[in-house]
Amino acid sequence: MLGYKAPVEDLRFVLTKLLADQDLNSLPGYSEFSPDLVEAILDEAGKLCATVLFPLNRSGDEEGCRYENGVVRTPKGFKQAYDEFAQGGWTGLTADPEFGGQDAPNTVANAVQEMICSSNLSFGMYPGLTMGAYHAIHAHGTEEQKRNFLPKLVDGSWSGTMCLTEPHCGTDLGLIRTRAVKNGDGSYNITGTKIFISAGDHDLTDNIVHLVLARMTDAPEGIKGISMFLVPKFLPNDAGEAGPRNGVMCSGIEHKMGIKASATCVLNFDEATGYLVGQPNKGMRAMFTMMNAARLAVGIQGLGIAESAYQGASSFARERLQGRALKGPKYPDQAADPILVHPDVRHMLLTMRAYTEGARALVAWVSAKLDVSKRHPDQQTASDADDFVSLLTPVVKAMLTDLGTDVANLGVQVLGGHGYIRENGMEQYVRDARICQIYEGTNGVQALDLIGRKLPAHMGRYLKQFFHPVSRYIEEHADDEALAPFIQPLSKAFGRLQRATGVVAQRGLKDPNQAAAVASDYLRLFGLVAFAYLWARMAEISLPHIEGENKRFYRAKVDTAQFFMDRLLPQSGALFSSIMAGGDSTMDFDDEAF
Ligand SMILES: Cc1cc2nc3c(=O)[nH]c(=O)nc-3n(C[C@H](O)[C@H](O)[C@H](O)COP(=O)(O)OP(=O)(O)OC[C@H]3O[C@@H](n4cnc5c(N)ncnc54)[C@H](O)[C@@H]3O)c2cc1C
Repeated sequence: MLGYKAPVEDLRFVLTKLLADQDLNSLPGYSEFSPDLVEAILDEAGKLCATVLFPLNRSGDEEGCRYENGVVRTPKGFKQAYDEFAQGGWTGLTADPEFGGQDAPNTVANAVQEMICSSNLSFGMYPGLTMGAYHAIHAHGTEEQKRNFLPKLVDGSWSGTMCLTEPHCGTDLGLIRTRAVKNGDGSYNITGTKIFISAGDHDLTDNIVHLVLARMTDAPEGIKGISMFLVPKFLPNDAGEAGPRNGVMCSGIEHKMGIKASATCVLNFDEATGYLVGQPNKGMRAMFTMMNAARLAVGIQGLGIAESAYQGASSFARERLQGRALKGPKYPDQAADPILVHPDVRHMLLTMRAYTEGARALVAWVSAKLDVSKRHPDQQTASDADDFVSLLTPVVKAMLTDLGTDVANLGVQVLGGHGYIRENGMEQYVRDARICQIYEGTNGVQALDLIGRKLPAHMGRYLKQFFHPVSRYIEEHADDEALAPFIQPLSKAFGRLQRATGVVAQRGLKDPNQAAAVASDYLRLFGLVAFAYLWARMAEISLPHIEGENKRFYRAKVDTAQFFMDRLLPQSGALFSSIMAGGDSTMDFDDEAF
C-alpha cells in the first residue's frame, strides 16, 4: 500500500531559494508571511494531508459518492475530514480578511493546494470549487452579495460550484440554453439543466452556492448573451442562514473513471431564484475570473498526482527485489537486487522526478507572479506580472495535467503487475489524473488559447515576459563553464521555441488551421523550455552546496537537472520538426475516410 509524505523540503527550496529574487514578503499585506510562518503553514498542511486526507483517498475511491432519494452522500469519513479542514481555516487561506480569510500569498496557498491534490484529489474538489465561487463573487458581486455569501464560503460552512456545462454544450458555451427571466424584485427565475457539475450536491456543507451561466430574455445569441447568476441551494433567511429550499435539484450523479469521491451532478433548475452577478451579458468575463484561477488549480492537480505517484514508485523500487544489476550483483547479501538498479526503472523514476519537480518550480514561478500582479505597488511591474500569468496559465494547465497522467502511468509501470491491480493504489492515480486533461477547458483548447489568444495579444506583449528573462539568463551565463551542461541545451531548445513562434505566428495569419494543427506540440515545446530554464536555475542554486550540509538533496537536484537536459529536453527537437512540418497532412485528410 502506497503512502504520502508532504515534500516540504523541496517546497522550501523552491519558495525560499528559487523565488528568492521575487521578495514576496515585501508585497503589501504579505509582510507577516515570514519564512518561519510559511514553514509552519507547510508543516501543518503536510500533517493534515498525510494523516486526515490521504487515509480517505482509497476508501473514498472504493465507496464513491451515492445518490439516494434525491440526496448525494459523500463517502464515509469525508464529512468529519471536511469539518476538521474548515475548522483549521484551510477553506479561506487566500481569502480577504474582511470576510474572515487569512490573506495568504498564492505562492503559499498553491503549495498547500499541491499537498491536498496529492493526498486526496476528490476531497480537494469541494473546497477548490468553493474558492472559485468566492473569487468570482468577490470580484464581480454587489456589496450585499459579498456580505451575504462570502463569509460562509470562507469559513467553509457553505460551498460553491461553477455551472457551465449543459448536455449539448461543453467547450462551446455560446450554445448555453439555460434561461433567466427577471422578477419584479430584481431577482431572476433560472430554468435549465446543467450536467457534470462538480460538488453540485453533497452532504459536507449547510448550503451550496451555484454560479450559473444563463441567458436573459432577449439576450444576443452566442457567447455575447450570457450572464452569470448566483443561485443558492437554500435561500438565505433573515438571519443569513440557509433558509427555504430553492428550485434547484440534483437528479443524479455520474459513474466515472476516477475522482469517484467527488460528486459530479446533473442539476435541474426549475424557476430557481437567482441573482445577477456582474453586468448583464458579461457572464463570460465574470466566469473567467474563476476560470483562470481554476486552470492554475487544475494544473496543480496534475502536479499533486505526479508527486504521489513518484513517491509510491520510488519507495516500491527500493524494496522490490528482482534480477541482478547488469554489471554484477549490487546488493549481494539479498536474494536479488532491488529493481532500482535496472536502467529502465531508473529512467522511469528520473523521468517522473524531473517532471514533478520541474512542475513544482513552474507552479511556484507563476504563483509568485500572480502575487506580484495583484499586490505590487508599481503599476507597470504588476501589469507585466499579469501578462506573464496570462501567458503561462494554459501552459500550466495543459502541460502539468498531461504530465500528471504520464507520471502516474509510469508509476504503474514501475510497480509492474502490482501497479495494475487495485491493492496498491497506483492505478487510482491514473484514473484520477485523467479528468484533469479534460475539465476547465480541454488541453486542446488550452493550446488554442496559447497560440490564438496569448501569443498575438497586444502584438506579442505577453511573450516578452517569458522570452526576455530566459534570453537574459542565457546571455548572462553563456561563459559559465560549470553551468554549461545546463545552459547549452537550454539555449538550443529556446532557439527552437523562438523560431517556432515566428513561423507559427506567420502561418497562422494566412491560415488559422496551420497554427491550430500544431498548437498542442507548440504548447509542449513552450512548457519544456520553461522547465529547462527552471532546471538550469535550480542547478545553479544547488551546485555550490553539493559538498556541504544537506549535500544529498543538492546533489540530487543537480543530477536531476542533468537528466532533464540529457534525456527529456531533446524532445524539443522532435516537437520543433513536427511544428515545422505544419498542418497540411492533418487538414487535407478526407473527412469521409475517418
Ligand atoms: C468529472 C467531471 C467534472 C466536471 N466538472 C464541471 C463543473 O464543475 N462545471 C462545469 O460546468 N463543467 C464541468 N465539467 C465539464 C467539463 O468542463 C467538460 O467536459 C469539458 O469542458 C469538455 O466539454 P465536453 O465534455 O462537452 O466535450 P466537447 O466540447 O464536446 O469536446 C470534445 C472534444 O472536441 C474538442 N473540441 C471541442 N471544441 C473544440 C474547438 N473549438 N477546437 C478544438 N477542439 C475542440 C475537445 O478538445 C475534445 O477533445 C466536468 C466534467 C467532468 C467529466
